Amino acid sequence: MKKKALNAETMKYSNYRRLIEELRIESISRSELARRMGLTRAAISLQVDALLNQGLLVEGSSIALKSSGRSSIALKLNSNACYCVGVAIRRDYFAAGLFDFCGNELTCEHVDLVAPYDTRETAYAKLFSMIDNAIAQVKPSGAFIGIGVGAPGPINVEAGTIDDPPNLIAFEHTPVVSLLSERYHCPVTLKNDACTHALSELFYGVKDRYDSFLVLEVTGGLGAGLVLNRHLNESQLGNGSELGHTTIDINGRRCKCGNIGCAELYATLASITAYAMTVDSRFTNWRTIVDFANDGMPEARQVVEREAFYLTTLIVNTINMLDVEAIIVNGRDITYRPELLLSCIRRLLSERKLIKCGHPVDIITSSIDKNPDLLSAANLAIDRFLSSPEQLKRFGEAQRAAN
Ligand SMILES: [Zn+2]
Repeated sequence: MKKKALNAETMKYSNYRRLIEELRIESISRSELARRMGLTRAAISLQVDALLNQGLLVEGSSIALKSSGRSSIALKLNSNACYCVGVAIRRDYFAAGLFDFCGNELTCEHVDLVAPYDTRETAYAKLFSMIDNAIAQVKPSGAFIGIGVGAPGPINVEAGTIDDPPNLIAFEHTPVVSLLSERYHCPVTLKNDACTHALSELFYGVKDRYDSFLVLEVTGGLGAGLVLNRHLNESQLGNGSELGHTTIDINGRRCKCGNIGCAELYATLASITAYAMTVDSRFTNWRTIVDFANDGMPEARQVVEREAFYLTTLIVNTINMLDVEAIIVNGRDITYRPELLLSCIRRLLSERKLIKCGHPVDIITSSIDKNPDLLSAANLAIDRFLSSPEQLKRFGEAQRAAN
């Protein structure tokens, strides 16, 4: 009997999550929700009423139903129901932002990872003060549901630690999850930056346009986050696909990982810039190279072509192994004036015979245009809230007590 009750409870919260996730993608009516979830209109109404009472949903404007042409009330998330913090840690900066339940940014602050914030003590002290100030200044409404942290791998999700990503001395070997949860008394979720971004695409970027796609994170490192059939593919420790350590030159140099000719040796921004500097000493960073290339300078175009060639090799390997519908190239600098790079990749891809893929693969950048690193991190907190029956139950009980 107890088991049956437990299962019914689990099923209820699982349905709440599915329902809310449909509404995270778009605002729709009760009957459309019933159709998408394969439930009766009566069953959906019960769940919707419960979530309206808890304040997680609100009724929106009237919309025309496609099936009958009649109008119906659209449901949407209540942005003021709760709020969370997103923390982005990267090799050259760290940032914290406050977001509401709909993923709207309420405030944010970025800090370059340079002196005086380049030690563990000063970096964490600054991060804490950024979060404290954000909450104190905005005074957001609703319940505080937690903190999400996106950081470069390797990380250990079970231990809640950032391990030893290259060039990240201030945060390496730090228990970021316990440091934040002890200070803010809330759930803290840590994930690899590429996986973090891939997950957020499902709700804020590509949404339901693709079910399977790869986020290729090209920065000082080369990471990848893979979504297959709308599920994030990740290891138990929370690291993404190690695409950067797959071989793209069998006669290449030995990588620090032990493998030969890894993509990271050639295609990271540091690697391609180091090569570019041997071509022209003015090619000091990717943005400058792209500007020269767009002005028609052949040497700069050749550098962009070279980067496109490396990335295409990785993309072809991915497509031949996994049936993805899109590749999302991401990274603060690699997506600067991205059309030239993307068009080179698309051309190189069209020249290769792809065995497995019977459909075109879109090569795009993310449509999340404002602080995707922070929104992605905040999305971890929202995702954890929705997947935790205990947290949802506590939230509902607190709302009932308040009413
Ligand atoms: Zn390697």
